[in-house]
Amino acid sequence: MTINFATGFSDISNQEKAVHRLTGFIQSGNIPHALLFSGMEGIGKKKTALVFAKALNCQTIARRQATARQPVEPCGICRPCKKIAAGHHPDVIVVEPEQSRIKISAIRDLGHTLAVKPYEALQRVVVIDQAQAMNPQAGNSLLKLLEEPPAGTILILIAVNTYSLLPTVVSRCQQVSFKPIPDHALAEYLIQKGISPEKAKILGKLANGSFSRAEDLAGTEWLQRREWVIRIFERLGDDRQGDRRVALSMAFSEMLAKDRDGIVDVLELLTSWFRDMAVVKGGSENVINMDLIPRIRQAAQRCSTMAVLSNIDRLETARKKIEANANIRLTMDVMLMNLFLGFRG
Ligand SMILES: [Zn+2]
Repeated sequence: MTINFATGFSDISNQEKAVHRLTGFIQSGNIPHALLFSGMEGIGKKKTALVFAKALNCQTIARRQATARQPVEPCGICRPCKKIAAGHHPDVIVVEPEQSRIKISAIRDLGHTLAVKPYEALQRVVVIDQAQAMNPQAGNSLLKLLEEPPAGTILILIAVNTYSLLPTVVSRCQQVSFKPIPDHALAEYLIQKGISPEKAKILGKLANGSFSRAEDLAGTEWLQRREWVIRIFERLGDDRQGDRRVALSMAFSEMLAKDRDGIVDVLELLTSWFRDMAVVKGGSENVINMDLIPRIRQAAQRCSTMAVLSNIDRLETARKKIEANANIRLTMDVMLMNLFLGFRG
């Protein structure tokens, strides 16, 4: 995802509550030493952390503070604001995973940096992005920093959830939660990026509340892929295909097994397809794949509600197995066989 260094809080979409809390900290002058931003991937947590770092260091805001309770929108034009926007501020430090891990050495290095005074900042800000990528050793090392917070420094942990962090770390942070982005806001965002309104509406629903996911979907040939997968499933659900369906499901499994990166997407897509079938069976039209309603109806007629629900379970089981590094081909074979039986159920 391209990181857009927003100018200020007003550029952060759909996170009014989080923004309100953060600006409240600045207005009251009562800023916690450690914050934990939690919420799903791709909804603006890191962007907000950097805007907050700007607001804490903005010279314009610092001048205004003398007159109390002024707006705390960073000006974007003073030296600290510009340096933070460019990623060049020596006292705004971002720690990120390397090869999907944050190791103890990274946290120790951070400790050494924080042991000396900030270079120029009013408030030094450390952002630990994807904090769930810390192993327990790194977490314990961070705990020491949280127990004796370095002067003039604010630590911001960013994580998709809190249960994968050490409880002792979580308890030392003030939590600020970020919420999923509504479908319509994702669609508007995609339209601004030049996606046609019709396509943006569908992708907005498929993106599951995340800006970065919406961008990913817009960037790939997602709709073509969906068409490919759903056509296969329409054939699998069609009795007239007879025994050819077994061969088809095995060929599909083989193709999926070759594309490890794409497999979770396909499972998610299939889950949305069966979920939509369940919704239609329940008499509602509140589907995700809303451009496919007639086809969803047709597929739903061929399947019992029980079968649809157990297929959703089977997809979920397969997804968990893949995430736990199970053999992909075997997992897909078993899943497809079960789904296929489900059509008859
Ligand atoms: Zn400024």
